[in-house]
Amino acid sequence: MRGGNLLTVLILLGLVAGVLFGQYVLFNAGDPIPYDHWTKAAGDLVLIRPLMLLIVPLIFVSVVAGVTAIGDPSRLGVVGGSTLVYYIATMLIAVTLGATLVSLIRPGDLPDADRQRLTADAAQAYAESGPIAQNIDAAQARGQDRLGGAWMNILEQIIPTNIVDEAAKGRPLALIVGGILFGLGIAVGGRRTQPLVIFFDAAFAALMRIVLWIIWMTPVGVFLLVAWTVGRIGFSALVGPISMYAVTVVAGLALHGLIVLPLVLLLFGRANPLRFLWAMRRALLTAFGTDSSSATLPVTIECAVDEGGVSKRSANFVLPLGSTVNMDGTALYEAVAVVFLFQIYGIDLGLTELLVVVITATLAAIGAAGIPSAGLVTMVIVITAVNRSLAGQNIDPLPVAAIGIIIGIDRALDMCRTVVNVWGDAVGAKIITRIAPDPVPGPDLRPPG
Ligand code: ASP
Repeated sequence: MRGGNLLTVLILLGLVAGVLFGQYVLFNAGDPIPYDHWTKAAGDLVLIRPLMLLIVPLIFVSVVAGVTAIGDPSRLGVVGGSTLVYYIATMLIAVTLGATLVSLIRPGDLPDADRQRLTADAAQAYAESGPIAQNIDAAQARGQDRLGGAWMNILEQIIPTNIVDEAAKGRPLALIVGGILFGLGIAVGGRRTQPLVIFFDAAFAALMRIVLWIIWMTPVGVFLLVAWTVGRIGFSALVGPISMYAVTVVAGLALHGLIVLPLVLLLFGRANPLRFLWAMRRALLTAFGTDSSSATLPVTIECAVDEGGVSKRSANFVLPLGSTVNMDGTALYEAVAVVFLFQIYGIDLGLTELLVVVITATLAAIGAAGIPSAGLVTMVIVITAVNRSLAGQNIDPLPVAAIGIIIGIDRALDMCRTVVNVWGDAVGAKIITRIAPDPVPGPDLRPPG
């Protein structure tokens, strides 16, 4: 068996074993297992931390190498512009799909008794959610739950004052901007900056070697992290009154991931979607297990370039940017979740509010970091915007603590949406390969001997 296939089989085994161990050993053991359970700590140690360790150097080096490989600034403009158009267009499709599905399926139309119980328990679940509620409260305190504040937050990352500080805070956008600028400087610097082109190319190759080592930790990491998730939630959570909500999210993600994105790939990338899906399998399984597009990025780049036929010029630039900006799964999920919560509170959103959801959920997905539960935190932007749009119509605003209703099963849905986030990035990189192919090495014309 080839190394890549053996690894895929091992990751799948880790996944299945994780589900079984989580459900039948951890969950059945009694009280829900805590956030800091040993399985989570061990999963972080063997997989998440080593992958995250690579993120800062990898993003910077990969973007610099990608930009210098593209070389010509006007060519970079075309590549960058097309990438952004792809990101925004696919996120808008995803969010519209989510808003349409949740409006048709109406998972929030529940018997009154269920609604009352869910809304009564929401505040406590929210308060007990620890870091999630703290992050939402902090975003509110900084005014980042409002559109102006949310935009400002993104713009400040695009125009940073201190790249090191931003990187230390885990905000990769600044690193990407810094990498683009530095890469451009090198590209236009002529002969004097040529050694840096070679340096960054070599540094990228060295980092990818490390990725190849870390990847072998994926089966164990996926086992531990999936066991922890299932051990905390248990399958029983998926059959309660909010099961229809989970079905709506998963159906939307499946439609987007298995129909919309493959069609886009076929039309604009002229590539076989099934074959490309297979090439990206290890990255998609890693996304499912780690719940983080950022942590998965090294694996995404490796699969896309080594197996997926994505050019290095495209992968080095499009994938790092995509892992933080392009989140189709998160956008779709935010739309479904917010409309569902309003339904539970008996508020039917009209077309205007649905439009507000579509626009703000896209912004919230762009603003979400590629880490677990980030989408749940930026959802507050969508809720606040819809509340403001409803103001003056004699409707009580939706309390932010309503998020407590969906916190319980969020990790499971997060795993699914992270897969679609990573898949969307990969499809984008494959499409951009058409306008930024790697140079074909010319024939060796040196005289023999
Ligand atoms: N976990 C997601 C990701 O890393 C972000 C989110 O939707 O919470 O892509």
